[in-house]
Amino acid sequence: METVNQKPNIRSLSLAELEHFFTSAGEKPYRARQVGEWLWKKSAWSFDEMTSLSIEIRKLLEENFNINHLTVSNQQVSSDRTIKNAFRLYDGNTIEGVLIPTTKRMTACVSSQVGCSLTCKFCATGKLERIRNLEADEIYDQVVVISRQATEKYSKPLTNIVYMGMGEPLLNYQNVLQSIEKITSQSGLGMAQKRITVSTAGIAKMICKLGDDKVKFNLALSLHAASDEKRSSIMPINDSNSLASLKDALRYYYEKTGNPVTYEYIIFKNFNDSIKDAEELARFCGVVPSKVNIIEYNATGDGLFNKADEDRTMAFRNYLESRRITAKIRRSRGRDIDAACGQLANKFPSPLERG
Ligand code: SAH
Repeated sequence: METVNQKPNIRSLSLAELEHFFTSAGEKPYRARQVGEWLWKKSAWSFDEMTSLSIEIRKLLEENFNINHLTVSNQQVSSDRTIKNAFRLYDGNTIEGVLIPTTKRMTACVSSQVGCSLTCKFCATGKLERIRNLEADEIYDQVVVISRQATEKYSKPLTNIVYMGMGEPLLNYQNVLQSIEKITSQSGLGMAQKRITVSTAGIAKMICKLGDDKVKFNLALSLHAASDEKRSSIMPINDSNSLASLKDALRYYYEKTGNPVTYEYIIFKNFNDSIKDAEELARFCGVVPSKVNIIEYNATGDGLFNKADEDRTMAFRNYLESRRITAKIRRSRGRDIDAACGQLANKFPSPLERG
């Protein structure tokens, strides 16, 4: 890892702190708001771009701060038009973010941590070590870059953001919420809270915290099995966050926010694809108002799991619908470039392999 320039990251300062910086330097405090606008609303990555500020002020900022922006270090486009980006962070670490275009939507899938600590058995990111949390501005930058790709490549604005890239967002709670604050604020990107979904492997305590904070964005829980024994065998986090504790947390969350919850359920061949599994899931769905996304399994190269057969998948979905549960089958996107759910592992082809 390279040496990092030690000047503070200007985007980690609050408006009040920036005002204080300007007044201590003998400048007018309103400069802080101007700079804030450049940093967030206009996503400036250099002080030079801040043309409404005098050269002296730009120099003052340059001497005192860094803008720790990321850069796109690699990009792949799938045959289904999904774009996977490798983002190089200011300290040399790499993460990934994906643009998923469909007929109705332009969705950005963003990472919240470098690596992940949860070791879910079916997930490629789970095989990487957790290195560190992303800062709010690093999450924000992913959205800005992917949003530009949507308009430049597909002539459509970004419609949705999902925190389903690398990492566990609820283990980076404060920065994730701060990033959402900036993405939705009028002084940032001005996107609607309802267009944002945070997906968690299930940290009961933090689901309750979302309730206390009365969040307005959507919550998705990666369930994948509705019995503790099965769930623990594929998701070690279930040992300390049992289904009973998740149910309690979800009730609390719903009581506080009134938001329904989405359950993600990867359907694995001969593991969780029987009608008995569907019955257990249906019972779990009784806890709070909810819907289910049945997710096709994407191979991660270890041969441990297989994609469920089509007829079993349909029977599973039909059973849930017979129990009046809304269930949709989510087809995989970007699989040919390892951009699909669970495939993000910084595996870009080397320049020689690229065609
Ligand atoms: N840590 C968060 C967000 C990242 S994972 C979470 O667990 O929800 C985003 C989604 O992709 C989760 O539902 C996850 O379970 C799913 N996923 C992981 N590996 C997958 C795979 N190999 N195939 C399909 N979906 C996968």
